[in-house]
Amino acid sequence: SVAICWFRRDLRLNDHAALYHALRSGLPVLPLFIFDTTILSRLEDKADRRVDMIHQVVGGLQEQLRTLGSDMLVAHGTPEEVFRHLLQEYNVAAVYANRDYEPAAIERDNTIAAICTAAGIEYHNSKDQVIFEPQEILKDDGTPYTVYTPYSKRWLARLNPFFLKAYPVEQYFSALLQFRDKQLPSLQQLGFRKTDFTYKAPELPHQVIARYGETRDFPAVEGTSHLAPHLRFGTISIRQLAAFAQKKNLVYLKELAWREFFMSILFHFPRVEQHPFKQAYAGIKWRNSEAEFDAWRKGQTGYPMVDAGMRELNTTGTMHNRVRMVVASFLTKHLLINWQWGEAYFAKKLMDFDLSANNGNWQWAAGCGCDSAPYFRVFNPSEQVKKFDPDLKYIRKWVPELDSLSYPQPIVEHSFARDRALKAYKEALNNQ
Ligand code: FAD
Repeated sequence: SVAICWFRRDLRLNDHAALYHALRSGLPVLPLFIFDTTILSRLEDKADRRVDMIHQVVGGLQEQLRTLGSDMLVAHGTPEEVFRHLLQEYNVAAVYANRDYEPAAIERDNTIAAICTAAGIEYHNSKDQVIFEPQEILKDDGTPYTVYTPYSKRWLARLNPFFLKAYPVEQYFSALLQFRDKQLPSLQQLGFRKTDFTYKAPELPHQVIARYGETRDFPAVEGTSHLAPHLRFGTISIRQLAAFAQKKNLVYLKELAWREFFMSILFHFPRVEQHPFKQAYAGIKWRNSEAEFDAWRKGQTGYPMVDAGMRELNTTGTMHNRVRMVVASFLTKHLLINWQWGEAYFAKKLMDFDLSANNGNWQWAAGCGCDSAPYFRVFNPSEQVKKFDPDLKYIRKWVPELDSLSYPQPIVEHSFARDRALKAYKEALNNQ
């Protein structure tokens, strides 16, 4: 009999909780990855960099495992179909996976756990993608935090070497099942196309970390770690990264706490997936102009930082955090377009798309989330340029026609838009 180790957003062969426990179970371990058709069928753009990234990473894991005489079994289907099939094909005694905290993932895992239990198979799951799970950082009265600062204080206070210890999976590789799977399905077979994305293995951010606090807000500078997609798919271990950050830079470490804060919010308040965290803002009368949304999406608003950001996103699948805040504020406040439109657009495009971080940050920008900036704080996009891209280096890269006649006039005048937004927000609060 075998133990299956089911890889999901933990695509690496080092410091891996589920793999460690599987390898130490005394059973030969069969590594499994499923290209999940439930998720893939929802992706409209069939040239999706994230699918391309996963495809390249899984191919790499197969190669690594083959040098050890083992392999990664790569399946294509719904997890339920795949497991029902595998349970017939192999004598499976146990399944090991790492926990995931998104509502849809929890439901998926419960389904598979139930199938296993019904068949007399052990289903084990472990903490792996976070330092602290949503239930581990709670207020004294046992309720979840809804404000980041006290959450992060407790998060930092609890951090000790125990939580950062790596799982030494390499020592137990001899327990991997010796087998050879068929060829990796091609992107075409999965219904996707190749993109311009080439996967590079992550590195600890030695270069940026020393100056992170000073440079992270300037999009023209190499000031951030670019590790978000790796954290999303688990190609880097959060324990390894947090241990490094703890030694080097507290500001960076606190960013990792933001990630877990929003995961905790989504876990404890799953309604935020569809609704504002603060109910009072449910009644905002959005203008929701399709034409203006289109101009925003394409980077044609006449506000250079907004346009640069959206063009960067459309071209590369990423955008600097400072610029994300500016474009999100602009869409929701200046154009009075529902934050959920922006959230959905980012979800389609971002390499590092993560439901909890995207939702939490969009709600923050719209002023309706937990721990939100007060609604009356409206970013002035031109002031943001002066502060964070004073030489226009970032902007000129993405908006080369900035000084020419072909560049559009501002889609809306700043102070007019600001007053209009404040009025709409105030009205919603008064009418609640
Ligand atoms: P670094 O500055 O190097 O930070 C290190 C890590 O800390 C990041 O990789 C990320 O895991 C975490 N982190 C940093 N800032 C935040 C934050 N505000 N919220 C949560 N985690 C954070 N981040 C995502 O990972 N996925 C998203 O879908 C996402 N959507 C966003 C939408 C909006 C409107 C905004 C304003 C921010 C969003 N962010 C999202 C947060 C942030 O912009 C990115 O995490 C960051 O830009 C990624 O680049 P980096 O890895 O170089 O970050």
